[in-house]
Amino acid sequence: MLVDSHCHLDRIDLKPYGGDLNLAVQAATERGVSKMLCIGIDLNNAPTVVGIAERFPHIYASVGVHPLDISDEVCSVQTLSELADHPKVVAIGETGLDYYYSSDRKEDQQRSFAQHLQVSAACGKPTIVHTREAREDTLAIIAEHGSPQVGGVLHCFTESWEMAEAAMAMGYYISFSGIITFKNADELREVVRRVPIERLLVETDSPYLAPVPYRGKKNEPKYVVEVAECVAELKGLSYQDVLRHTTQNFERLFPLAK
Ligand SMILES: [Zn+2]
Ligand SMILES: [Zn+2]
Repeated sequence: MLVDSHCHLDRIDLKPYGGDLNLAVQAATERGVSKMLCIGIDLNNAPTVVGIAERFPHIYASVGVHPLDISDEVCSVQTLSELADHPKVVAIGETGLDYYYSSDRKEDQQRSFAQHLQVSAACGKPTIVHTREAREDTLAIIAEHGSPQVGGVLHCFTESWEMAEAAMAMGYYISFSGIITFKNADELREVVRRVPIERLLVETDSPYLAPVPYRGKKNEPKYVVEVAECVAELKGLSYQDVLRHTTQNFERLFPLAK
């Protein structure tokens, strides 16, 4: 039993499956992937990701606006709350701050992030946070607007141990993607070793960031196996232990996906 805690099923390449999402999902299931969280990135794809979650009992959805997909107007608290009010929506996001790809709209990103955290706290559905080159602001906004009881996850984590530690102190989990298998990721692998297994999730972030040995190809949920294997090796745990812990962690963080 393995969970892909972050995938974009509306964007994965279905050509190898003749365009049939059922077959891509089945390919993941056959490798032991028993649950997936399909992530929303803006208002346009929200109906699509929720629709996918409605079709499959073991797939859940999140709704939110990615920091790089904020339109002219920041999405209102009310609109977000309405989208979140669905039984298969178990999380809010992805939201967060990305100063690496976009430093010109910092204020909009910050306002959007704060509003997502407010909705998350109000509806009790944890926040999925994307953070890149914005360590201090990310932590400060979570501290100000987040709910430690509801918590959330720093997804596709590529930042420092200090940031992971500060986020965990605020009730957050740390999710690692295929990046931990990349040759040049020694520093990040050190962070994987230090994050307690009780606070760690695995994800593909598919269709991006396929793990070694598929690096450079299109990613899909079935490759979360390689991420979990890498975690097992780095932490000196059995693969089965990693499956058990990461699944328990996922269900603890997202009780609606239990
Ligand atoms: Zn992201
Ligand atoms: Zn994502």
